Amino acid sequence: MNNKYLHLDRVYYKTIENVCNKKVIIRACLNVEIDKEYNIVNDSRLQQAFPLINEMVNVAQSVLVIGHIGRPKTRDPRLSIKQIIPFFKNKFKNTSIRIKVLDDIDQDSFTKIKMYSKNKTVFFLENIRFFSEEESEDIRVQENFAMKLAKLGDIFINDAFPDYRISASTYYIARYLPSYIGPAYKNEVDKLNLIFNPNKPFVAIMGGAKLSEKIDILNLMLKISDKVLIGGAMSYTFLKAIGIQIGSSLFEPEKLELAKSMIENYKHKICLPIDHVIVKSLDILSNIEITKNSAIPDDYVGVDIGPNTIKLFESEILHASTILWNGPMGMFENTSFANGTKNIAMLLSHLKNKVIIAGGGETVQAINKFCENKNGYTHISNGGGAMLFYISNENFPTLDVILEKHN
Ligand code: ADP
Ligand code: MG
Repeated sequence: MNNKYLHLDRVYYKTIENVCNKKVIIRACLNVEIDKEYNIVNDSRLQQAFPLINEMVNVAQSVLVIGHIGRPKTRDPRLSIKQIIPFFKNKFKNTSIRIKVLDDIDQDSFTKIKMYSKNKTVFFLENIRFFSEEESEDIRVQENFAMKLAKLGDIFINDAFPDYRISASTYYIARYLPSYIGPAYKNEVDKLNLIFNPNKPFVAIMGGAKLSEKIDILNLMLKISDKVLIGGAMSYTFLKAIGIQIGSSLFEPEKLELAKSMIENYKHKICLPIDHVIVKSLDILSNIEITKNSAIPDDYVGVDIGPNTIKLFESEILHASTILWNGPMGMFENTSFANGTKNIAMLLSHLKNKVIIAGGGETVQAINKFCENKNGYTHISNGGGAMLFYISNENFPTLDVILEKHN
């Protein structure tokens, strides 16, 4: 990791001297899943976005919140910002704070913002990805759009760590306004930084579907941690690479060479499953069996780590002082194949005096599903892909663009 991310106080929004007479633009992470019935599946990202919005609406001259939901190709009503307005309305009930949606950025938006200034109104701009300029392939289009957005405020606060890809509202806008990071953003970075100065032993637990999506983070963990426990479908690519039978389990043929070289270079660090939960077919009627060793017979599919692997991984975890977990140990969405993931999630939630960082879309889903008490976790990252990117890359553009302005 780059040391430049260790001292973020100077770019933290708390250093803004006086926001009372300022128009604040907040880039929040509002990217929640909206189901077919238009319900919010999990509002934890909105919960994290709330504190800054709440603070600013009480002190600033005006507040404009910008964010995206999903990956809309058109103005899909299901992905409209209007879907998350009830959440915030509910948060502000019993207050005099009002919420308004701006459908577009035009003269009318300026007039509205001005009209409601100092009137305790939070403006939410419509899903920023409804505007084709936001992610235009032409950078100049993104820049011009960012300039247009910037005209709606005096300062910019980015609180959307998960929205890490460069776009007009996450990156370019910071070039045109005094810019800072917000509390949710800073918290993510501060907590993720803990793994770069770990108390030893440092153990990484890696799982999930594809090795190919996790090469960078795996390479880094092999370098900086003491043990890497590998479960999930990803482990079958490793097992096959060293000639162990994996039946018809999921694996990535084009990654066999890479897996083999990782094992050759880090034999003493990599810890692979020693038994598996297997089924003949993914049909519910199919019998669930446990292998006696790390091999999976022909015609069988691996769906979870086995009981001896759980014990092995647990003993490594108990010895660790710092733990990073990304990726489920099996197809935990199916209760019959959830034991590995559930045991790891629950063990971590009960540990004391360890630094435990967990993240990843499905990993967080599993933790929420299996752990009522999450006290053992130092940090459960909402960042998803952003977490992996932050940990395994030297640069993080949406933060760099703000840091550069304060140099
Ligand atoms: P995260 O989002 O936490 O980083 P991934 O996206 O890498 O995790 O992977 C999660 C998915 O991996 C889950 O949906 C899970 O069902 C799947 N998975 C885990 N183990 C297996 C397996 N043995 N076979 C097939 N899929 C698996
Ligand atoms: Mg995922």
